[in-house]
Amino acid sequence: MAGQKPRQSWIYFINPYRLSLRCKLGHTHIYDLNEPGEISCKTTSCTQIINSSRVFRGEHPYIIWTHDDFQDNFNYIKTFSVIPLTSSTIERDKGLPTAYPINATSRNGLDKQSFALIHQICTVDANCFKDKNGDWLVRIGQIDKPDKEAIDERLKYFFNIQDKPSDDWFVNNASPELLEQVFNCLPDDIKQSALEKLIDNLE
Ligand SMILES: [Zn+2]
Repeated sequence: MAGQKPRQSWIYFINPYRLSLRCKLGHTHIYDLNEPGEISCKTTSCTQIINSSRVFRGEHPYIIWTHDDFQDNFNYIKTFSVIPLTSSTIERDKGLPTAYPINATSRNGLDKQSFALIHQICTVDANCFKDKNGDWLVRIGQIDKPDKEAIDERLKYFFNIQDKPSDDWFVNNASPELLEQVFNCLPDDIKQSALEKLIDNLE
């Protein structure tokens, strides 16, 4: 039995094997994810390596959010932006405003309480939602309206904190406390060199 074209807030149980990834320099391409590991950026002039083991992967329920056309070089690829759901949150995701709990209902088809990992929203090739014959898969359910609205709010919050603050923002907020806060967020292995560079600037 074939399903229908996925729509917003519908839930599918899939393994997104082809999705868009972005290198640290901002090049975004669609990649086949057969194995977790390191992937070279598809931009020919770029030498960045993308660590795909950080990508949320495997068979999970995914909520359809938007459908888009992804432009990869000269091709347009049909994609869906999807939010993964997991019933087992790892410790670091607990309490995040972007891990939104959804109770199992007959409407959403989930078998236990799950967390929508809003910060893990990703762009997946639409073919991941089709079977071998090219027919759309059958959805497992759809999220309820209050959950949809709550996710919408949290998405806005998430994209806000992702936006790089403007120069004005830095001018208005610069303080020793902020400097310290940012410093504490640096990976341990570059703290020393970052600090030395600042001290060099001072001299
Ligand atoms: Zn790149």
